[in-house]
Amino acid sequence: MKAHDGLYIDGAWRPAEGHDVIEVVNPADEQAIGQVPAGTAADVDAAVRAARAALPAWAATAPAERAARLAALRDVLVARKDEIAETVTAELGAPLAFSQTVHAGVPIAVAGSYAELAAAHAFEEKVGNSTVYQEPVGVVGAITPWNYPLHQIVAKVAPALAAGCTVVLKPAENTPLTAQLFAEAIHEAGVPAGVFNLVTGLGPVAGQALAEHPGVDLVSFTGSTAVGKRIGAAAGAAVKRVALELGGKSANVILPSADLAKAVAVGVANVMSNSGQTCSAWTRMLVHSDQYDEAVELAAAAAAKYGDRIGPVVSARQQARVRGYIEKGVAEGARLIAGGPEAPREKGYFISPTVFADVTPEMTIAQEEIFGPVLTILRYEDEEEALRIANGTVYGLAGAVWAADEGEAVAFARRMDTGQVDINGGRFNPLAPFGGYKQSGVGRELGAHGLAEYLQTKSLQF
Ligand code: NAP
Ligand code: MG
Repeated sequence: MKAHDGLYIDGAWRPAEGHDVIEVVNPADEQAIGQVPAGTAADVDAAVRAARAALPAWAATAPAERAARLAALRDVLVARKDEIAETVTAELGAPLAFSQTVHAGVPIAVAGSYAELAAAHAFEEKVGNSTVYQEPVGVVGAITPWNYPLHQIVAKVAPALAAGCTVVLKPAENTPLTAQLFAEAIHEAGVPAGVFNLVTGLGPVAGQALAEHPGVDLVSFTGSTAVGKRIGAAAGAAVKRVALELGGKSANVILPSADLAKAVAVGVANVMSNSGQTCSAWTRMLVHSDQYDEAVELAAAAAAKYGDRIGPVVSARQQARVRGYIEKGVAEGARLIAGGPEAPREKGYFISPTVFADVTPEMTIAQEEIFGPVLTILRYEDEEEALRIANGTVYGLAGAVWAADEGEAVAFARRMDTGQVDINGGRFNPLAPFGGYKQSGVGRELGAHGLAEYLQTKSLQF
């Protein structure tokens, strides 16, 4: 894993205009592992110009050629998957096995899915006496977070390229090395100069310059709701397309007929994986009053077993934030049954797998996104109350329902105000649209729905 001291603009690594750098830190041992340039508005401007210059030729390529580049990109990601996993582990802190299967594995699947979609998609259709063309939106400004550093990049760049758009990426300051590795993969895959550009830098500097640049036609952002609101407002003022993938506070609804032990075990694992830094994590477990005590015991045991297998959270700032939420949960009267606010190790930004029982729907820990390994368990008396609690936050990104009968679970899921629901532990599907209801966002990623975000229509009448 080596850090580039330049920005990837117009097909080459170029020095940044300024001299500021970002130090990359391994959150497991707090050691500095490299530094990358902190790009500024001038660098963003150079990257947007490169993307705009490359747009006409790339937009005019045959979809089969774009599909071939995406297939080549997938192949490079496959060839370099160990390096990807090691890089994500070094800068995010995820256990290596999880980095291999998820942080490297999922982007490979998603890149592959867009190679296929680019080849198969109908970019032209007849509607009565019209021909409707789906054309690329233009230059995309992509701003990504650190929690799934490569997945979030590929989930934006692959569909953008499949559509015929060109891209400028501003990745999270905590995980820029994974983004540099992705830029190398793009280069190796033979994507033409200027089609993809990378500007590492700080959110309020490079990120804001990208979001507000008049040469950007669509801003695709994943991250916090606070920043997402600002980006949405700026895009609205400029009448610019915007896609926002924001936070979540998803409910894991265990109906009385469910296999309780399985639902609790999978629910705890879901929240603890990636140290709880997953926007779609089921951070609120809803259990019927008759089964509540049993579920609490099962969850405490499952969390304790997790113990040392959990990685750190990404930064000292994130660790402090999560510990603050745990203290707030105790102060508001929730009952700590596993973990707690004390740091479990001297070095590294670790948080113990933490579970709260006796959580009520209005508590801060049941309303706000904690983004750490913290599960809350809430009690309901009947299905209507379960639904009210499940839908009772500003978010609506994901969720889960468990029941003996699939039909019963589906009926409940259809009443949830949320974009994705896993039925009885349903598997991840890289083609299923992913995105939020309510304040969890605007737009969808992945699959054909994700591709549609990067297309606009033109109709010719005959
Ligand atoms: P964030 O600040 O929203 O970061 C997301 C991305 O936006 C990063 O690339 C960030 O750059 C950039 N950014 C920050 N301020 C910006 C601005 N004014 N204009 C344009 N871009 C800007 O999120 P965070 O600070 O990393 O995490 C804070 C909280 O957000 C977490 O605790 C969690 O609750 C939530 N979050 C949600 C998701 C999700 O997948 N939905 C992902 C990450 C975080 P920098 O890296 O330089 O800040
Ligand atoms: Mg930030």
